[in-house]
Amino acid sequence: MQHPRRSLFASVSKYFNRAALYSKYEMGLLQQIKACNTVCRFRFPVKHDDGHIEVVEAFRAEHSHHRLPTKGGIRFSPHVTQDEVVALAGLMTYKCAIVGVPFGGAKGGVRIDPHAIGQGFRERLTRRYTAEMVAKNFIGPSVDVPAPDYGTGEQEMAWIADTFRALQPGQLHAYACVTGKPLSLHGIPGRKEATGLGVYYGLMEAMSNEADMKKLGLTRGVAGKRVIIQGLGNVGYHAAKFIQNEGKGIIVAIAEIEGAIHNPDGLDVDAVFRHRRETGSILNYPGATNIENSLAALELDCEVLVPAALENQITRDNAERIKAKIIAEAANGPVDPEAEEILLGRGCLLIPDVYLNAGGVTVSYLEWLKNLSHVSFGRITSHYDENTNTRFVDTLERLTGKHLTNEERQNLTHGPQEIDFVRSALAQTMITSYCKIRKTAVDKKVPDLRTAAFLLAIESVAKSYLTMGIFP
Ligand code: NAD
Repeated sequence: MQHPRRSLFASVSKYFNRAALYSKYEMGLLQQIKACNTVCRFRFPVKHDDGHIEVVEAFRAEHSHHRLPTKGGIRFSPHVTQDEVVALAGLMTYKCAIVGVPFGGAKGGVRIDPHAIGQGFRERLTRRYTAEMVAKNFIGPSVDVPAPDYGTGEQEMAWIADTFRALQPGQLHAYACVTGKPLSLHGIPGRKEATGLGVYYGLMEAMSNEADMKKLGLTRGVAGKRVIIQGLGNVGYHAAKFIQNEGKGIIVAIAEIEGAIHNPDGLDVDAVFRHRRETGSILNYPGATNIENSLAALELDCEVLVPAALENQITRDNAERIKAKIIAEAANGPVDPEAEEILLGRGCLLIPDVYLNAGGVTVSYLEWLKNLSHVSFGRITSHYDENTNTRFVDTLERLTGKHLTNEERQNLTHGPQEIDFVRSALAQTMITSYCKIRKTAVDKKVPDLRTAAFLLAIESVAKSYLTMGIFP
């Protein structure tokens, strides 16, 4: 018998309460940190491509205003509820606090099936939702800044930016009202892959710790480890690609909505992606075995499982059968608390969502800064740096009498481009944040990384409330 699904809201509350026990703050302050400050529910009509009208339900939750603007993605999903959006907005507050991004948390949700709507409907819906948020002051560069999430991407962000600009003429920083925009509309290179790349950096950092890996019976590093990916969307595709290409991990199975494929010798992520785009399905990929029940693929042999689709994928119904030793939570809330207890009890390492998928908001922060400053990173310094580096290399060659190859010279002299700054800031953020979480776990004798991450977030948000003097 399948157990009823726990709501994400209940899970996040439970994680918060568990971590709060380790903090020294009084109940009132903890309640304020946990509470969602404001939620807006919208209902508006949108015309379908065939002319019929649908009344759409949507939400935007701003969980915490201790930092402004608030920030969080917009998801299009038929399962969106107010509770889910509130829980995801809370996760955003804690996520930003953990990785040191100075935003409060927010989230938007539109109850619609993103796979079942036409492009015209999608555009009208996105623009109308934006107009509703403008009318209620739930969007703006200094107020609340959305981003992509499940079912949305660059195109929706472009429509949001354009609608906002049209409704707020003369706003100098209008494009900073949303992040995850295409490059041609003041986006930033590296944003699209940021969450997936952040997942890879986080996994790499966790797997570089010899003692932790020894406890799991694994050697250090991602290389050669068998990895299963659930969800080949924005986060899953990029995470899989970086794990395969940079980490030299072996992607043995990929699970999608229509089924899963398995090849113990490894799957080529890009080729699978192309196959799905061309045939409309992940199934029947040459050389791989089809698995009709997609969820069953999570139970295959592997060292690392990366759920990158939706919440509540690993529950007490399947947790006992999961073989992975490391669960890297790329999606929000993929493991519910009952499953977590089972997995931790078995000694698995869970790298929590509230940290691991923070790469997106980290790079969104950079995009927002770029939009406010109206200049791309590196524009002012890149050429200058290249000249300085060239003079340095020339001098070294003259003094040593030796000459570098063209490739060596290029590596040493090139002035950093915007993508170099973005990748480097992302890597640094993911690595230092992991170290902070692990240190909190060790110092405060917290038994798992999720509790340690929540504790870190609580302490950071509490400090800003206390310094603001909200609790005199
Ligand atoms: P997406 O819409 O780009 O991709 C999701 C993929 O999961 C799709 O390919 C979909 O077909 C697949 N999927 C849906 N249900 C499935 C199922 N039952 N089994 C297997 N596959 C299934 O969404 P995304 O942006 O990649 O987001 C995925 C998760 O990551 C969500 O939990 C989201 O909240 C979280 N997240 C996303 C970002 C971001 O920057 N996009 C940032 C942080 C967290």
